[in-house]
Amino acid sequence: MTHASVKPLTLTLGHLYPDQLNLYGDRGNIMTLQRRCQARGIELRVVGLGIGDALAPDEYDMLFIGGGQDKEQAPVAQDLYDLKGIGLWAAVEDDMPVLAVCGGFQLLAHYYRPAEGPDMRGLGVFDAWTLHKGKRVPRCIGDIALNWNGSTLVGFENHGGRTYLGTAKPLGKVLKGSGNNAEDHTEGAIYRNAYGTYLHGSLLPKNPHFADHLLSLALKRKYGGEYYRVVAEAPSASNGYSSATLPEKSGETSGESIMVAAVMEEEPLSPPSFQLAPLDDRLEWEAHAYILERLGLHHAAAATIRAHIQE
Ligand code: GLN
Repeated sequence: MTHASVKPLTLTLGHLYPDQLNLYGDRGNIMTLQRRCQARGIELRVVGLGIGDALAPDEYDMLFIGGGQDKEQAPVAQDLYDLKGIGLWAAVEDDMPVLAVCGGFQLLAHYYRPAEGPDMRGLGVFDAWTLHKGKRVPRCIGDIALNWNGSTLVGFENHGGRTYLGTAKPLGKVLKGSGNNAEDHTEGAIYRNAYGTYLHGSLLPKNPHFADHLLSLALKRKYGGEYYRVVAEAPSASNGYSSATLPEKSGETSGESIMVAAVMEEEPLSPPSFQLAPLDDRLEWEAHAYILERLGLHHAAAATIRAHIQE
């Protein structure tokens, strides 16, 4: 087998409204994804999509939309509905991973009724809706923790709108904090590989397992292939790589040889099955455990330290 060329895996992320929707360091989510890709030799290209830009779903492997104040959301809602709705829906229905935080989450549901002004029409990706209960009702502000996938997610929330789920599945159950509406203990929403959440902070730096979950979904969707393991070093024969050919269905690089580590044929992984090589996430997990501790979730904090720092 000839080693024609070693081509790193690549992903393209569409960052929706980077100038309008970027509260509480939401851009930090992009930086985290970039760093975690870079550490594994994966190229993550980030394309900003502002007001007036069309969204051609085939050009992206992941999408991100952040949060914003009501006055920033109004023009975005119009543009999202008129210009990007069809492309975004097509991406979602094709299982593209999408992360939508706070104001962005609200605009991917049916509508947001702010304290003042007209309703903002959403795309209805999440069967949910958001009502702002008026300026006299306290906002949902503070640290927050929830159960997700047998683990925890932590972050910071600040929203006046309260979201109610119809058939949409919640992202998780609130352990401490307000979550969607400070009433039913749900937080966020999931539809296919689209995730909505109120967690700012930003979310991904303190939740490396969720960042890798999104990356795995994107890599699996783009490259398919059950048995690849992406390690954290530049591919070379000396560190245990051998060449392999990407399966046909990846289409884009069929017949192309890439360097992958030993294929773990003996234990097929259940999806998402793009196993990313572990990184040294002790700092991330310390920050995670610190928020749990600050919320008084001592057991969960101790479990996090045992599972991820004292291993
Ligand atoms: N403006 C919306 C609200 O208050 C969203 C806020 C945000 O994105 N942090 O609910």
